[in-house]
Amino acid sequence: MAGTGVVIDPRYMDHDTGAGHPECAERIGALLPLVEALAPEVTRLQARPATPDELALVHEPEYIKEVAATQALPHFAFDADTPTSPRSYETARLAAGGFLVLLDAIMAGDVENGFALARPPGHHSESGRAMGFCFFNNIAVGAQYLRRRYGLGRVLIVDWDLHHGNGTQHMFESDPGVLYVSTHQFPYYPGSGNFGEVGTGEGEGYTVNLPFPAGFGDAEYRQAFERIVEPVARQYDPQFVLISAGFDAHARDPLGGMMVSEAGFGALARVLLDVATEHSQGRCAAILEGGYDLSAIRSSVHHVLAAFGGRLAADSRALPPSRAAAVLERVKKTQRRFWKL
Ligand SMILES: [Zn+2]
Repeated sequence: MAGTGVVIDPRYMDHDTGAGHPECAERIGALLPLVEALAPEVTRLQARPATPDELALVHEPEYIKEVAATQALPHFAFDADTPTSPRSYETARLAAGGFLVLLDAIMAGDVENGFALARPPGHHSESGRAMGFCFFNNIAVGAQYLRRRYGLGRVLIVDWDLHHGNGTQHMFESDPGVLYVSTHQFPYYPGSGNFGEVGTGEGEGYTVNLPFPAGFGDAEYRQAFERIVEPVARQYDPQFVLISAGFDAHARDPLGGMMVSEAGFGALARVLLDVATEHSQGRCAAILEGGYDLSAIRSSVHHVLAAFGGRLAADSRALPPSRAAAVLERVKKTQRRFWKL
């Protein structure tokens, strides 16, 4: 097959969050040498900025103008966590557009799957609001783009970032054309993502939240994916699998309380790749969300790319004891109205 595409660009370092901010330019700086070292195994794709019309697939035009207006200001802050610099708007457009380049390359068959290693991240941004380090919701723009441009009817988004992707959930909660599945620490920032948030109206049943207490690691995540994420994903029969791939659930992450390892993230990617292979012709694309320990991000991305390239064997070890049973039982009880679990 056509292999794995990677979007990464030194211009992703141009969004300056100021001294001491965890969502820093070095997150991309740490990944550039890894991608260069992997050069024969992955295809580099050239990022482009998303147009305002493309951003308006999920964002209010007035809000896009508000973000654009920050270009004229040396500094601005949408909230305490979400500061801007003069290049932030362009960098945020390049993050969303880089993801669209990857999706186009997969749809064209130039690559089979891929990873956009972009910043700023996106899953907290709402249609009319920046928050939580996020300006434009890259994965939501991508999902809507796939539907409008290619006429796809069912797009799966799996969000394994430490935090709940409030923006993504809200954009699609009444829409059965996008199934949003999230594992996240709870209660925690941003506060949403409880069991009972299952979507509304036509979209009821197409939001699946797995709120986890702090301390869950590879065993709990693997069990959650085997018992809930994978069966729900297969029943949905997606035409494209998208991953909000944050690495702040890694054991070494300074913001999170989870214990996932780099190999654990590779195993999660492997599960979703298998779903993509059997349901969506292998079409699977990840976008970087959070993750604030540089070496943890680098090794985790390495494992996920190994899974994407078919170089990671399935984890066939017996499932170790897991503390997830009670949480997963509660998710099942909630979701059994909509899915066979
Ligand atoms: Zn996060």
